[in-house]
This record gives sequence, C-alpha cells and structure tokens, in this order.
Amino acid sequence: MYPDVQLYIDGQWRAAREGRTQPVVNPATGKVIGQVAHADIADLDDALAAAERGFATWRATPAFERYKIMRQAAVLMRERADAIARIMTQEQGKPLAEARAETLSAADIIDWLAEEGRRSYGRLVPSRNASVEQKVIKEPVGPVAAFTPWNFPINQVVRKLSSALAAGCSIIVKAPEETPASPAELIRAFHDAGVPAGVIGLVYGDPAQISGYLIPHPVIRKVTFTGSTPVGKQLAALAGQHMKRATMELGGHAPALVFADADLDLAARTLATAKFRNAGQVCVSPTRILVQRPVFEQFVEKFVGLTREVQVGDGLDSTTTMGPLANERRAPALRELVEDAVRQGAKLETGGKAIEGDGWFFEPTVLSGLTPAMRIMNDEPFGPVALLVPFDSVEEAIAESNRVPYGLASYAFTTSIKTAQALSYGIEAGMLSINHQGIGLPEVPFGGIKDSGYGSEGGTEAIEAYLNTKLVTQSG
Ligand code: NAD
Repeated sequence: MYPDVQLYIDGQWRAAREGRTQPVVNPATGKVIGQVAHADIADLDDALAAAERGFATWRATPAFERYKIMRQAAVLMRERADAIARIMTQEQGKPLAEARAETLSAADIIDWLAEEGRRSYGRLVPSRNASVEQKVIKEPVGPVAAFTPWNFPINQVVRKLSSALAAGCSIIVKAPEETPASPAELIRAFHDAGVPAGVIGLVYGDPAQISGYLIPHPVIRKVTFTGSTPVGKQLAALAGQHMKRATMELGGHAPALVFADADLDLAARTLATAKFRNAGQVCVSPTRILVQRPVFEQFVEKFVGLTREVQVGDGLDSTTTMGPLANERRAPALRELVEDAVRQGAKLETGGKAIEGDGWFFEPTVLSGLTPAMRIMNDEPFGPVALLVPFDSVEEAIAESNRVPYGLASYAFTTSIKTAQALSYGIEAGMLSINHQGIGLPEVPFGGIKDSGYGSEGGTEAIEAYLNTKLVTQSG
C-alpha cells in the first residue's frame, strides 16, 4: 500500500550510500508505514555532480523540447492522481479529496510553467548609435537547491521544480522526510516523461545538514525554501553570505476582514472551508477573522455552526473533511497557544484540545475575546484554530491586519467598492482575496512580504526567479 522511498540521483532510484533510512509514520494512526532513505554528504556530492552535468544538458535542450517533456509529466500526474492521492493521505493525513485535488493541481502548475518556459523572451533595446545592437538575454540561473515542507508534499515541490525546469535549470529537491513518497511520485512522473539524468535530484535526510552543505556549495546558484520564518531567515542569511539568489515562502497569520455589508453566509462558509482545509496547516490559512461589530455575534454563530459540522477522521474515510495534524510536534504547540489565550481571558467557542486515541487529531477550534497581546494573536498557529475579533472602522481593521510582522495572504468580504478599494491599497500583504478564496492558482502570483518572505511562486513572476538577465551590446 505504501512504498519505501529511495533517493533519486543522476537518473537512478537508489539507497543512500551508507544504507541509512528513517521511518515514515501515518499521522492518523501513529504507526510506522514505511522507510525513507537518509542521505549523507557522499550522497549530496553525487547529487551535486549530477546537477552540474544535468544543467549543461538541460540548458542546451531547446525550450520547445523542455516544454514537451514537462507537458508529458503533467499527463502522467493526471493519469496517476488516484494512486498518488492515497499515498499522500497515508503519510500526510489530509482527506483523500484534498490529496487528489493537490495532485491534479500539480499538473496544472506544470502545464502553466511549461508554457511560460517558451515565453521567457529577451528584448532588443533601441541604441544611441546606428551601428550598435543592444540585446537583453534571459538565461537559466543554474543548479537550484530547493527545500520543501510537509503540508503540501507535492504542491510545494512542483512550483519550484516546474519553474526551474521551464527556465532551463537543474534542481536538487530536499523534500520532507515526514511525507516523502508523494513528492517522489511527482519526480517519477518527470523521470518517466523523459527528463534527462542529472536534471532532477531528490534527497532526504537531516534538513539542517543538507541545507548547510548545499547552499554554500559552488555548484548551487539559487536557493528556494518554503517553511517557517525562523528557518527561512537562517537560510536566507546563508544564501546572502554566499551571494546566492533566493526565494523565501515563509509563515503567515492571515487576516480576514468581514464587513457589516458583506454576504455573511458566503463569508462564513468560505472562511470555514479555508480555515479547516488541511487541518489549518496552510501558510495562507485565514487566522485572525476580524468582523465588524454590528454583525459580530451573528457571524460567530454561523462560523461556530460550520466548525461543528467538520468531520474529523482518517483521511482515507470518505466522510472525513479534516484529517489529523501531520506530525507529533503540532498538537502540543497548538495546545500551548490555545491554553495561553484562555488563561488570559479568551473564550473557547468550540474545540480547544487534542482528541484522545491513536493519531494526532485536534479539535476544530474557535476562540473569541482575544487581545493583541496574546501569543496566538501573534504566532502562526498552523492548525485548525480560528480567532474571531470584532472591529469598528475600516481604518481599525487595516491597522490590526498590518500589526503583525507577517504579510502573506489576506481576505475580505464586503459589498462596498470603496471599502474594497481602501483595502487593496491599505493591506500589507502579498495577496488579498475579496469575496472569495482565489489564492494559489498557477497563473497568479503567490508570495509574501515582510517576515513572510520574498519572491513569487506563481504567475509570470514565478519563472523570473530562475532567470538571469544578460546584456550584450555589440558594435559593427
Ligand atoms: P520547522 O521550522 O522545524 O520546519 C519547517 C520546514 O522546514 C520543515 O519542512 C523542515 O524539514 C524544514 N527545515 C527545518 N530546519 C531546516 C534547515 N535548517 N534547513 C532546511 N530545512 C529546514 O517547523 P515544523 O515543526 O516542521 O513546522 C511548523 C512550522 O513551520 C509552522 O508553524 C509553520 O510556521 C511552518 N511551516 C510553514 C509552511 C509554509 O507553507 N509556509 C509549511 C510547513 C511549515
């Protein structure tokens, strides 16, 4: 049912040289379901040497050929979506429908970036002298080191992988040890589609050891990381020290503003769905839900009602709408944040604790009566916890939205064009979605500002991060 996972280096699936492995646990049962190979430095050296050769091959491959291979990988992902989703649910916990949607959306992301690769145009700049030609060329930045987390085992890899490949780069992916098999299936689709040896490497092991070795290594020219802000700051500092290009997709603490003129049912339904998707382990999850005072009580009632309808269980069960937390660390971290808030006077509207029994389940939780000093109003909960907070004016809502150092996603519900306009310019965030959940599609930018990082993993911007701009100016 669940495959053991190997490293993928130089076009080969293989064990780590030292033969080391580490266990993979199903978060719904707490039981070991398989093993993943654990790379050491010798394996990383193999991967680096292969990535250097792979880059030479791939950058010389015409964009149209790269496109055809990538499109074939997307076809394979669609064909294999059911099987891959079952693997993902076992290792990550999310409901099968969410795992399937993630796998299928990976195919859409591959398609989009494959197309973008054919459009990475340079330009001719009119010169001051008739005998001079000024040519701007886009070139692949070089071998990439990518570090991805366990919350979206495929999605986090595919954005980086597809951008790199579309631009003509090779890439070494350090995928999550907690959820290794579904990203390996993504890499398998590219292998089966015909990506040449060395273009893609896949390793697992000790994250700090791998990043500490790959980022400074002269073969690596670009670093991309998705994960927590503290780790992102460390890796960005290391990249800076070695003058490597970097993209950082870090944490968030998304505000969602619900105005009195909004469609409250739409707002409650959209936000509850977004909040409890993937058990809240989503960097763009709406967390501080700010509701204008005249409709606050009404909104709380609607939102709590929807929260109580969430069916918590094993993601393989078709009635489940929210699975377990993905690893053992998350439940105590969440409990501490909730208990701290309650100790300081917050009101538990529903939920609030881990669910007894096997696996790492946590109740869908809603808190009110919060103050800005509480830890949970500042630290990313990264779990199924919604914070409901009343506000009076647009200005107050914008000030609370911008109060925290994060600036990733934000949401708003209003029927006033004037309010929507004020928010468009007033909210400090990389993304603002008004009256629906529209964040995360391949063709639109995806990324944060402030402590949420820099760079974009969507839209036309995604490929830019993997391209150098070169000027050639020629006379005569
Ligand atoms: P963590 O900070 O220990 O790890 C987050 C991710 O970074 C993991 O995938 C981990 O393997 C990787 N990592 C950690 N140290 C690393 C290093 N030195 N070099 C390279 N990679 C490294 O946290 P965690 O307990 O796994 O997750 C909890 C927190 O992580 C959450 O509170 C959330 O803020 C953040 N997170 C964010 C995202 C996101 O999509 N932005 C995804 C997963 C986790």
